[in-house]
Amino acid sequence: MVKEVTTNSEGLATGISYINKVDRKEYALKAKTVVLAASACSSARILLNSKSSQHPNGLGNGSDMIGRYLHDSTGSSRTFFIPDLMNRKTYNEDGVGGMHIYSPWWLDNKKLDFPRGYHIEVWGGLNMPSYGFGFGASDLNKYIGGTVGGYGDKLREDVKKFYGSVMGVSGRGECIARKDNYCEIDPTTVDEWGIPVLRFNYTWSDHERKQARHMHNTFEEIMYNVGGVALGEKPGAEKDYGLLNPGRIIHEVGTTRMGNDPRTSVVNQYQQMHEVKNVFVVDGGPFVSQADKNPTWTILALSWRTSEHIINQVKQQNI
Ligand SMILES: Cc1cc2nc3c(=O)[nH]c(=O)nc-3n(C[C@H](O)[C@H](O)[C@H](O)COP(=O)(O)OP(=O)(O)OC[C@H]3O[C@@H](n4cnc5c(N)ncnc54)[C@H](O)[C@@H]3O)c2cc1C
Repeated sequence: MVKEVTTNSEGLATGISYINKVDRKEYALKAKTVVLAASACSSARILLNSKSSQHPNGLGNGSDMIGRYLHDSTGSSRTFFIPDLMNRKTYNEDGVGGMHIYSPWWLDNKKLDFPRGYHIEVWGGLNMPSYGFGFGASDLNKYIGGTVGGYGDKLREDVKKFYGSVMGVSGRGECIARKDNYCEIDPTTVDEWGIPVLRFNYTWSDHERKQARHMHNTFEEIMYNVGGVALGEKPGAEKDYGLLNPGRIIHEVGTTRMGNDPRTSVVNQYQQMHEVKNVFVVDGGPFVSQADKNPTWTILALSWRTSEHIINQVKQQNI
């Protein structure tokens, strides 16, 4: 478990120190170049924990930008019952799970009250029917004038009737990266290895709330057009329009943002730290923004560019 990046008197990286999970002791590894790929929050944590006289605010954090602009995708969902899918033919398979439809943003933001956009993922299929508190196959009878509840043949008939007739839609959107959404070192808590952990300061703004409200209106439009019936309540303002808590869509990025200006960014276009030229960050940390789509392909593409840059820089003896 990496604890920190070690540095020399010039403030350059000399390697890392880590806790061996077997004997729980701390060891050092020497390196000419350090590449962090511990995920956006973990790399920020390692850097913020790497304090020295040259880097009193954490490694390469003279700008105080590390940990800031943390952002995750937005997410909100709705479920429908589709009467036309009742009594459908069943197959010995579960159907498609979380399907992404390739749908570039289709609306004109000038006519909307929020920036950027979102996509919609569709799910459903022949999942195992359930019965009991919360949701059961028989509950759907209330939408078609039938009787809810029952055992034996009635329940078996209900399960067959409603099997595969429920689908859901999940919006995943771009949120606006903000400086005041950040993670920082928690001064009072360490993990089981004795390494200080992160704490998080993150709120949604009206950009995301209005986007989620729009998502739900779109969900209902889709539902109406497929002849569906919405299940559950449409979440309103009091519930932030169903926005899941930040971090729930697990696309956290932005903590070591990329840029040309060392005062407002942590790494350059090669994901090389402005203040420590032999340290690179190749996870989602350098993202300045994140479109509504999932981040991993872009993380890979940027890492590739960084790898080529490191080889060139080593050949030129710059690092
Ligand atoms: C359930 C789930 C589903 C997802 N689905 C998708 C998807 O469909 N498409 C998509 O694009 N993205 C998806 N994501 C997001 C995607 O997984 C991440 O964006 C991506 O894995 C980030 O890559 P990474 O290399 O930066 O970090 P990670 O894949 O998290 O790798 C970081 C590694 O560093 C290790 N590490 C962390 N800290 C330390 C330390 N201090 N010392 C030593 N090692 C350390 C971790 O154990 C881990 O192995 C999903 C995420 C989750 C959780």
